[in-house]
Amino acid sequence: MLSAPLFIDVRAGAVASVGTLLTDLQIARQGRVAVAVGPSQGDGICEELRIDGAEVFRVPDGSLAAAVELGQQLRAGQFEAIAGIGGGKTIDVAKFAAHMAGIPMVAVTTSLGHDGIASPVSTLRHESGTGSYGVVMPAAVLVDLDRVRSAPASLSTAGIGDAISDLSAVADWELAAAEVGERLDGLAVAMARSAALVVLHQPGQARTDEFLTVLAEALILSGMAMGVAGSSRPASGGDHEIMHAVNELHPGTASHGELAGVGALFCTYLRQDEDKVGLISACLERHGLPRTPGDLGLSDADFAKAVAYAPRTRPGRYTILEHLDLSEAQLADHVEAYVKAVAG
Ligand SMILES: [Zn+2]
Repeated sequence: MLSAPLFIDVRAGAVASVGTLLTDLQIARQGRVAVAVGPSQGDGICEELRIDGAEVFRVPDGSLAAAVELGQQLRAGQFEAIAGIGGGKTIDVAKFAAHMAGIPMVAVTTSLGHDGIASPVSTLRHESGTGSYGVVMPAAVLVDLDRVRSAPASLSTAGIGDAISDLSAVADWELAAAEVGERLDGLAVAMARSAALVVLHQPGQARTDEFLTVLAEALILSGMAMGVAGSSRPASGGDHEIMHAVNELHPGTASHGELAGVGALFCTYLRQDEDKVGLISACLERHGLPRTPGDLGLSDADFAKAVAYAPRTRPGRYTILEHLDLSEAQLADHVEAYVKAVAG
């Protein structure tokens, strides 16, 4: 069975349609709506949303504690639905809280940093790291292109790297099917691969409505591919293991999408798929996204260490990194050759 949001809308000014959407889809018949917003949203958000009598909750950060507290407030207030408005952290907190309270959630996205927009997964920080929690997929997904355009580049367009990383994740999944007999899900593969390819080949500047629409649709499809697969497999391979490793060893280095893009390019290099290395590298460069350890502010040695550590971040997932099982010294040589190949 395929689960999907009831409604998807990607356009400038999409925020203004949240109120009518909740009524039209009969998500909130009595108007008992909670609105969760990130710390950067102004007080005028409810007027802009056109939801009379909605109660606004401020989400302080992307922690499990914030999500649990919001979930308790939703239950106590007997809300019918919640609209989560903001970037990835706010959406993830609202998704978890809605799941906890057993009410539908409308995701109103203001950045395109990663593919968690429509996914049935909530990623939250806790006392000893970061956890991924299975939650109900948003009932509706809106992407407001005006707000996306005004977000910083590390959030607004870094999702290009996350979308493209699906190509590497799918290649890892196919490798696991061939080498260790893992079961492939054809529909999830089709959705994830198509999402990556359309971003890879879309011409034009990232901040145009045309490009942002393609990127938003790709990130939504990528999230839905995870829903179809029942796991993050179609969108997370060695690329995301490298991302998690850099985050653990060097917190604050770069955003999710930026690290996923570099991870995907390096894994594709290890796969010796020269055509795709050229295409992915050109796409990341065209949009000003990092490609090398130096672009991330890391030394080649630090990056090689992170890649060596990467398989420990996702035990049980078979990718090109587990397949090659390279030592740190071997990886150091590969990183040196990679930097030469990619950056000349
Ligand atoms: Zn991702």
